[in-house]
Amino acid sequence: MRKPFIIANWKMHKNIEESVAFINQIKDYLPRAADEEVGIAAQAVALSSMNQMAQGTNLQIIAQNAASELMGPYTGEISARSLADAGVSYVMLGHLERRRLFHEDNQMINQKVRAALTMGITPIICTDDKMVQASVKGEIRYVFDQLKGVLKGVASQDLQKIVLSYEPSWAVGSKHSANPLVAQEGCRRIRRTVENLYGSALANNMRILYGGSVNPENIATIMGQADVDGVLIGRASLSANDFLKMVNWRQALSQVM
Ligand code: PEP
Repeated sequence: MRKPFIIANWKMHKNIEESVAFINQIKDYLPRAADEEVGIAAQAVALSSMNQMAQGTNLQIIAQNAASELMGPYTGEISARSLADAGVSYVMLGHLERRRLFHEDNQMINQKVRAALTMGITPIICTDDKMVQASVKGEIRYVFDQLKGVLKGVASQDLQKIVLSYEPSWAVGSKHSANPLVAQEGCRRIRRTVENLYGSALANNMRILYGGSVNPENIATIMGQADVDGVLIGRASLSANDFLKMVNWRQALSQVM
């Protein structure tokens, strides 16, 4: 049974005070831990204070990045060792903004994945649409180099914990809300690839999230897709009201059906 996972990606928006105040606002209205996991990926300096505010709640505090090494002369980097100290349970790796703006490639992301796992932090690995489809001579082909690259050498007991996300670059930060069928198809393709690489037991248990212009209006239909186990939400997660509506998407779904 794959437990739904709803994640806010605040990027470089909220400062420490705003981050803590947000948790204070939402913490009494989160869904039950048995029904859903909820997380917020925030700037590294806010994580420790957020973790203190989140004590006793069903809220995961998530880092947006981690270094590929655990210690050493890497000025400006943030190690998974320190993230673990700050109470971080998950780290987002390979977000398309990291790939696009900071030139992270599959090999670098793979090193980060392994460093995080060494410290007991679970990677949420983002993949974009290049992984899912590429047009070759007018024909849509599916290519999986990203997935193979970022998971290279990861032990099978660690693979079981990993969360993947499908974030098509044209949908992230865009004006167009996501088409639920596209979200479903991307996640389904990723699951089939995981199955081909590692077998059906792992693929059936792996949580695969969708990200790209999710909002309170479209979340219920996106979450209603068979292979979508959760969502990564950027802009719409910055409002506490909207975030609460989205983590409680089941209520909207029962109204839709
Ligand atoms: C993201 O950056 O991960 C994201 C999904 O952003 P948005 O929801 O704003 O498209």
